[in-house]
Amino acid sequence: MEKIRNFCIIAHIDHGKSTLADRFLELTETVPKNKMKEQLLDMMELERERGITIKLQPVRMNYQDHQLNLIDTPGHVDFSYEVSRSLAAVEGVVLVVDSTQGIQAQTLANLYLALEYNLKIIPVINKIDLPNAQVAKTTKEIAHLLGIKEAEVIPVSAKLGTNVEQVLARIIRDIPAAPTPIADPPRALIFDSFFDDYKGVIAFVRIFEGKFKPSDKIDFLGTGAQSEIIELGVFKPQLAPIDQLAAGQIGYIASGLKEIKKCRVGDTVSLSAQTVKPLSGYREVKPMVFAGIFCQDGSQYPKLRQAVEELQLTDASFTFEPHQVKALGFGFRCGFLGLLHLEIITERLKREFDLELVVTVPSVAYHLLLTNQQKKEISSAQDWPDPSQIASVSEPWMKVDIISPAEYIGGIMQLVQENKGVYQDTEYLEKDRVILHYQTPLSFLLVDFYDKLKSVSQGYASLNYEYLEYRPTKVVKLDILIAEERIEALSTIVYEDNAYRSARSITKKLKEALPRQMFEVKIQAAISAKVIASERIAPMRKDVTAKLYGGDVTRKMKLLKKQKKGKKRMQSHGKVNLPPEAYLAVLKR
Ligand code: GDP
Ligand code: MG
Repeated sequence: MEKIRNFCIIAHIDHGKSTLADRFLELTETVPKNKMKEQLLDMMELERERGITIKLQPVRMNYQDHQLNLIDTPGHVDFSYEVSRSLAAVEGVVLVVDSTQGIQAQTLANLYLALEYNLKIIPVINKIDLPNAQVAKTTKEIAHLLGIKEAEVIPVSAKLGTNVEQVLARIIRDIPAAPTPIADPPRALIFDSFFDDYKGVIAFVRIFEGKFKPSDKIDFLGTGAQSEIIELGVFKPQLAPIDQLAAGQIGYIASGLKEIKKCRVGDTVSLSAQTVKPLSGYREVKPMVFAGIFCQDGSQYPKLRQAVEELQLTDASFTFEPHQVKALGFGFRCGFLGLLHLEIITERLKREFDLELVVTVPSVAYHLLLTNQQKKEISSAQDWPDPSQIASVSEPWMKVDIISPAEYIGGIMQLVQENKGVYQDTEYLEKDRVILHYQTPLSFLLVDFYDKLKSVSQGYASLNYEYLEYRPTKVVKLDILIAEERIEALSTIVYEDNAYRSARSITKKLKEALPRQMFEVKIQAAISAKVIASERIAPMRKDVTAKLYGGDVTRKMKLLKKQKKGKKRMQSHGKVNLPPEAYLAVLKR
């Protein structure tokens, strides 16, 4: 049992975690060569398409007499919670840094998490096969950051497999063996879960003490749920049943539970009717970004309801509650970890459930104090009360770290300060690379901040953020009218002192995004029915007189008059179909 090593791979997005994991799977012959495909642990269709890891994915490998349990983790900031869950289940991490990029914001964020859990760190620099690899510089950077000798940093090419064996050897040598106390009753920590139609909720667990067997009666200490183990096993990486899971191991327990809520991540599993203390759990995640999701065709609502319920079974960090908006009908108010999470969920709803959706402009959750002293949390412009009822509003602020080459500091500072960011201080990673610490409203990260950051830094700056606190703010609801009709889904909450600028920029962007119609289309932005910005899209003019030659003026006039009449009719009945770009126009102002 002292031969078990449990570890994670952590890195900034795209630095090569999944590719390195592929090489491990090959070297350990966990997956036969002919079954090997790139980024094997990225199983979701969306993950493979976009080349990103969304769900963490454990796998057990056998290598030189040792059992290696690897958990691959996502690198995007939206999913840092997934990383923290995995870290609590292991004794060490492989820290991967791309040698063409150097240390990036999520490298640090993940590293600090690993240090919090007291994990052994094995530093690796990757992509040394690339011509623009800066091996010596990156090695120095990491050695300096970790306070270790440069010789301890392993240079690898995950793509070609160079030095990957060395990494496995170091995992075995340096990561402490998983402790295996035979305590009774046993305790296991849930670090992930999903729902299976036949076996119910399947909990991903790390056993810390004792052992579990099929048909054991189990308790979930936090939620109080009880059930019987239907099956247990390990990840190869597909589920492979075995007849017992013992201390030190990572595996799964099929619980038969019908609701994923009863199997909370961070909860402790033990045997029924025993008095045990729960293991220290993880922090709970709260959705930070909200959007309304409605069907284009109202009669599809039952299908949408079923879809969001099913999706939540696989992703407990996605929340929803029924929501009704006059113009949009029945739908759901949904909570997400971040914008990428929102994008992924809506994409999955469309693809996996074949739904045509209307998604409202995303928003943060505002805390409102009403004049009648009532407190309210509102995350949708559609629910925004009349200004006369509002006493005060506060909004969430974040701690933001930006890592960048020093030459772009000026541009970044300007960008953040333009957006209400408050500068804290600057730390030097190296002579020419800095970490800028800021505090900013979350709402401002929701827009196109990331794109702008990339453009002022020529793609070199990276960013990480975490929740700080709620602070007072002054905001108003901005409505958008297209062809005199208020488009409920496009309403947003904007800063009062910035309302005119937002309004002008949104109407202008919408003008570019909307297709021309046969009639003139007015685009207006309004606060409490007062129009503060407007644009117009000129009508398409079909040349009805083209067929007429020569001078019969009266005939020409007659035709044009007829056309005008027709246009007028269309205008009054006219509905403008909104392309998805229209929503982006409002979002990316
Ligand atoms: P992750 O986001 O950290 O899981 O990164 P991936 O493993 O998905 O890799 C991101 C991209 O870098 C993919 O296109 C990989 O093919 C590429 N990549 C990963 N490792 C190497 C390497 O050692 N050399 C080169 N040239 N490319 C690599
Ligand atoms: Mg990956």
